[in-house]
Amino acid sequence: MIQDIAPHVFNNQYSKKREPNPEDLVLAFTEQNELLIKGDGIELGLELPRAENFDKSKLTFLFTIDDKAYFLYLEVDTLSLDGYSYKSVRVARTDNPRVTSFAIATAFHLYTWYSKTRFCGTCGHKLVPYEKERAMICPECKKIFYPNIAPAVIVAILNGDKVLVTRYKERVYRGIALIAGFCEIGESAEETAKREAMEEVGLKIKDLKYFGSQPWGFDSNLLVGYIATVDGSDKIIRDAGELSEAVWLSRDEIEDVPSDISLTKTMIQYLKDRKDL
Ligand SMILES: [Zn+2]
Repeated sequence: MIQDIAPHVFNNQYSKKREPNPEDLVLAFTEQNELLIKGDGIELGLELPRAENFDKSKLTFLFTIDDKAYFLYLEVDTLSLDGYSYKSVRVARTDNPRVTSFAIATAFHLYTWYSKTRFCGTCGHKLVPYEKERAMICPECKKIFYPNIAPAVIVAILNGDKVLVTRYKERVYRGIALIAGFCEIGESAEETAKREAMEEVGLKIKDLKYFGSQPWGFDSNLLVGYIATVDGSDKIIRDAGELSEAVWLSRDEIEDVPSDISLTKTMIQYLKDRKDL
């Protein structure tokens, strides 16, 4: 999955004092969710610009991977840099190289939070970076604002040899998917899975087994995956507003997923390979 970057080592410990070295890397996003980058993530790979090309005073430390630090350029102006251009962050939903995709997704999560955490929600004052942790603080009322993570659930529903496979109706992503949705306030991840299964395909589910989890910074998510079994009737009542397709497919009928970058794809491939489940 996107976070599996070994032998590289990700370290998200915050340091306000970390100064950029010339070889450190910079993430410069736009309000249109574009990113200053070289390459395409496929044949040409992906390459982030180095810190030496930026005004140091405008860079915010994000995290390190191995001995390189990653910084955010949080300005509204767009830059021109030889060989680099602004492309949709979607280019990072590829695997070439994985470590850069992970860095972009994680930086984008922080960018999303920083760009909308500029003023105090209590008294309206301009916020400043908090010294001790990754947070913003109001110099007037001292309220502290931490990064937001939105938990969401993905559930694979089994029915004998078959798996419930879906496609979304109005999303850029056109590949096969599983039942998924955001956790709502007051519910557990298991309750989210049960509610989403009922809302999206009208199915009751049981025997939920935890599969794994994944940070998915493109949508500020922490995704939690479950494999469950249909409980009672297997008649699908598709939410036509949300899904263009929802069908029971045997393991052999499920199309191959080209990459294991996402939790959904990892779960689908796992079920294709484990026909005993
Ligand atoms: Zn305040």
